[in-house]
Amino acid sequence: MAETQDFHPIRPVTVTWRGFDIQIAALERPYFEAAAQGRLIVQVCDECGTARYPVADRCPNCGSRDWDWQESAGRGTVHSCLVIEHSVRPEQLPAPYTTGLTELDDHVNDLRKGGRQPVRILTNVYEPDGETFVAEPPPDGTPVEVFFEAIGDGFAVPQFKLVEGSAAA
Ligand SMILES: [Zn+2]
Repeated sequence: MAETQDFHPIRPVTVTWRGFDIQIAALERPYFEAAAQGRLIVQVCDECGTARYPVADRCPNCGSRDWDWQESAGRGTVHSCLVIEHSVRPEQLPAPYTTGLTELDDHVNDLRKGGRQPVRILTNVYEPDGETFVAEPPPDGTPVEVFFEAIGDGFAVPQFKLVEGSAAA
């Protein structure tokens, strides 16, 4: 069923993750609630079919406010990855840690100006164990899969880890 959402009166929820206070806006709640149920969902525009990330109330392609949430299989590849050597909050998030953009296999942006490209999600990148950050940035195109890290009661954040047995894992 299509959703049309203006900003409605549910206030943002604040959750604590690794000692950081993170505000989850009403618009973003389904994304983080689905993650807590072990599902990665992506907004897909009803008008033009463009998938998007991050969560937004308008389609960046056509401006429509109508969308559905669609489930992703959660498989993708590393698009760009780097190791952060100096943490701004080392007592909460010690360096080194890894952050990157991962491209989903099953959802594309269909931007009229930029052409088709996979939806890219900003994430940390972990070893296959889902606990250890990769020590070296894996080459672009390395296979990854989603897992979910709890960030408070009823919420989780999608994270990506190298696929066991893949070239870089
Ligand atoms: Zn659109």
